[in-house]
Amino acid sequence: MHHNRILVTGAGGFIGGNLVADLLRRGYTNVRAVDIKPHDEWYRRFPEVDNRRLDLSGRAACYEAVDGIDEVYNLAADMGGMGFIENNKALCMLSVLINTHLLMASRDLGVRSYFFSSSACVYAADRQTSAEVVPLREGDAYPAMPEDGYGWEKLFSERMCRHFREDFGLRTRVARYHNVYGPYGTYRGGREKAPAAICRKVIEARLNGRHEIEIWGDGHQTRSFMYVDDCLYGTQAIMHSDVEEPINLGSNQLVSINRLVDIAEEIGGIHLRRRYDLAAPKGVRGRNSDNTLIQRELGWQPSISLEEGLERTYRWIYDEMTSGQKSLFTAPAAAAS
Ligand code: NAD
Repeated sequence: MHHNRILVTGAGGFIGGNLVADLLRRGYTNVRAVDIKPHDEWYRRFPEVDNRRLDLSGRAACYEAVDGIDEVYNLAADMGGMGFIENNKALCMLSVLINTHLLMASRDLGVRSYFFSSSACVYAADRQTSAEVVPLREGDAYPAMPEDGYGWEKLFSERMCRHFREDFGLRTRVARYHNVYGPYGTYRGGREKAPAAICRKVIEARLNGRHEIEIWGDGHQTRSFMYVDDCLYGTQAIMHSDVEEPINLGSNQLVSINRLVDIAEEIGGIHLRRRYDLAAPKGVRGRNSDNTLIQRELGWQPSISLEEGLERTYRWIYDEMTSGQKSLFTAPAAAAS
């Protein structure tokens, strides 16, 4: 049993909702969950948690959320896959208000530890122009030329965390997540990321009998994908570690988008004709996580394979799509971010 009072922001979203579930599983009894979304739109919600609907871009809302809290996990951000972040740069940058006001409230209300979820999008695009990637090391974020909009916000907020630590003594920790996927996340509507989008498209093809799939880009772009359970373990390990500087939290199992589709097809027991949309948003050409630092600092790195994680994700999306509660066919598809 843990008595620390924990705040999870973005708790109505994918990683936040799964983090609340994991904290409860680990015996935390004093958890507050906050999101801007109406409660019935949260992916996971637990009655034993103090669930609040607040817009954390506002200063007063952040002071309300942080009041009486020991540890803050800030996962709230206006974000999505490539289809969203390439077309909504200002909205992505406005998430700076959330992290800034939460840091101020945490400093003023005596929070003991503060976690910020940054992203691999802070890395310079010119290091990610080839599918034959050199994995990204933490130092590669500088000189800075991150993903436009979303990446700049993350990099700025990382530095804000650092300066609150240095100037005000607030204990801050920052992880750079690399493509997280798993159950209880967005799989349709325009904000979904590649693994969920590909699973959904394979399932749609199975259900409607049109054995064809649209892929964003030429399919040769490469990524690594971290299953959410690894993300949750790593997030809490980093929060409680001595690692003060931003650290990669990602899988280093590099795959092409074509390979991702192969795995989803194997799970679905189907083979689809591939149509490549070369004009669609596709992000950088290749990206992988260098895990030297996390292995050295934590003696651990994400290890759940894409085959295993995608199978669990596929099953969850399949159940959601066939449970009859939600409409099967969706807004224009998003994919390979
Ligand atoms: P998500 O979109 O599922 O969750 C984010 C949540 O934040 C949403 O539920 C949203 O409603 C909430 N939110 C947005 N604006 C808010 C506001 N003003 N006040 C309160 N809540 C607000 O995204 P996710 O995948 O769970 O990502 C969580 C965090 O991890 C984000 O900061 C994201 O940038 C970061 N991240 C995620 C990935 C990934 O692959 N999923 C990769 C890198 C970084």
